[in-house]
Amino acid sequence: MELTIEKLLEENPELPWLEVERGWLPLISELIKELKPYLHKDPTFKIEQIKQKFGSLRVYYTARQENWDEIGKIVDKYESISAKTCEMCGTKEEVKLVKPRYWIFNLCPKCNDNLKKQILKWLL
Ligand SMILES: [Zn+2]
Repeated sequence: MELTIEKLLEENPELPWLEVERGWLPLISELIKELKPYLHKDPTFKIEQIKQKFGSLRVYYTARQENWDEIGKIVDKYESISAKTCEMCGTKEEVKLVKPRYWIFNLCPKCNDNLKKQILKWLL
């Protein structure tokens, strides 16, 4: 079954609203699995925001200082995987940063074409 934001949030109430496209949802699903142990052992650990910034995943959180290193390592890992993953469809083939107008997206050639068509429609 296809992963949706609603489904991820329902299964993981610890997640904030996700400001990302569908292609990265599987990454976030894996990320939250790895973070669960810290959510259990550190009551101050809270994921504040998950979004796309400059074409890669950004995760903002608060946690006890003693956990920063380990949580940071996990988050870094998924941020760098996201940089090589098309944010629309999730493929890792020929993904690159594209900058249509004011935005930056991380896309495969096919999703880039679709987006260009979409933007042309908005502009007409
Ligand atoms: Zn794509």
